[in-house]
Amino acid sequence: MSEIVHKKPAAPAEQFAYQNLKQGEFWRHVPAYREVDEAMFLDHLWQQKHSVKTAEELLDTIKDLATPEFIDDARRAFHLAPMAVRVSPYAISLIDWNDPVNDPIRRQFIPLASTLLPDHPRLTLDSLHEQDDSPVPGLVHRYVDKALFLPLNTCPVYCRFCTRSYAIGPDTDEVDKVSLAKTPAQWQAAFAYISERPELEDIVISGGDTYQLPPKNIELIGNALLDIPHVRRMRFATKGPAIMPMKILTHHEWLDALTAVVERGRRLGKEVVLHTHFNAPEEITWITQKAMALLFERGIFVRNQSVLIRGVNDEQQRMQLLVKRLGFVNVHPYYVYMHDMVKGVEELRTTIQTALDTEKFVRGSTAGFNTPTFVCDAPGGGGKRDVHSFEYYDRANGIAVYAAPSVKPGKAFVYFDPIDQLAPDAQARWAVKDIQEQMIHEALKTAGIRDQALILA
Ligand SMILES: *Cc1c(COP(=O)(O)O)cnc(C)c1O
Ligand code: SF4
Repeated sequence: MSEIVHKKPAAPAEQFAYQNLKQGEFWRHVPAYREVDEAMFLDHLWQQKHSVKTAEELLDTIKDLATPEFIDDARRAFHLAPMAVRVSPYAISLIDWNDPVNDPIRRQFIPLASTLLPDHPRLTLDSLHEQDDSPVPGLVHRYVDKALFLPLNTCPVYCRFCTRSYAIGPDTDEVDKVSLAKTPAQWQAAFAYISERPELEDIVISGGDTYQLPPKNIELIGNALLDIPHVRRMRFATKGPAIMPMKILTHHEWLDALTAVVERGRRLGKEVVLHTHFNAPEEITWITQKAMALLFERGIFVRNQSVLIRGVNDEQQRMQLLVKRLGFVNVHPYYVYMHDMVKGVEELRTTIQTALDTEKFVRGSTAGFNTPTFVCDAPGGGGKRDVHSFEYYDRANGIAVYAAPSVKPGKAFVYFDPIDQLAPDAQARWAVKDIQEQMIHEALKTAGIRDQALILA
């Protein structure tokens, strides 16, 4: 026994839940993966080839794990959704097939017709108005010193809640996609624009998803940007580590290409990092841990951007678990975003109040630098705002008013809570068009904003 007097009681066992990562061959309970050994499951080409894109492929994969009603429900939703469906075997195997309707991974990637809610009357497809801030195809220049480069429109999975459902993935029954610049020849216009704007120090390479860029294009883009003297910082954005972490372990050329760009950047005194997108604590397994350890060893810094999603991470304990688990595998929790106001996924959105409460709970659980900032990417193109920084928040009617003086001075931006989360009397008010206008007008007036300055999503 030590002589130390402990003033603080010992941490209870549940404090360590974040360390309990799924182990072993957890995929073998899925009928189609029963015979798949570790080498095959970790093969990134196998993962890509066996990704599920249709209701029929889903049925072939999970067979009797789900009921015929579930498959029918999914089949109907596949035709209604603004996003195409693509789910990796890794993600399929993490779904709790005893309760797929409420499962946090299912909710993100597989739509169900029975759970869809009507859209908020103020929703649009490109709610962030990225098209308005795009000087050349595939480049968004909204903030003063940073720009978003979109060199491709495919991803290793498709998230139902994607901000860029206007452009990402193949056309669906519901949406014809806007075309981004997708070839090296088309990218030259973006490089030329960036080189003519000395204020651009920071480039986000997103898409789509940089997991889908072949190694030679990782180097082509990375080196073209490093060659521009005023570019100081770059981030390659990818959902990959969250839904296909094995690629980092088995696609050696891809990781080597990324490593080469990071190392060349370091020699030039420029920061090149990876930004990723974990949303649910279940997405982090022993495979993730191994992949993140390899990136850490190579000196590749990883930051995470989550979306606050109903039924995925909008419970305080689950967000705390996610944040702690990310820190445990050396991923830095950077942002938690409000779910964007995109179409067809209203049942995944939450209220600003939920974000405020969740942030309050999470702060203090771990290192301050591992505590994410909760932001609302202001609909209409105001950029990211700290959720707490609203000019006014009408909680009853679910209307939050933001300003963005360094991005769009003099303008106001409004985020709307999902209507089904409001009290019945507020829901009744939203059903009447004239009252909608009146509520928004009142909220802006209380926020001290002149009506004509308003940009609405
Ligand atoms: C998010 C975003 C960035 C990067 O913003 P940070 O707050 O620095 O992460 C840059 N451009 C656009 C258009 C963005 O949406
Ligand atoms: S990975 Fe990113 S860009 Fe691709 S569908 Fe998901 S949110 Fe959209």
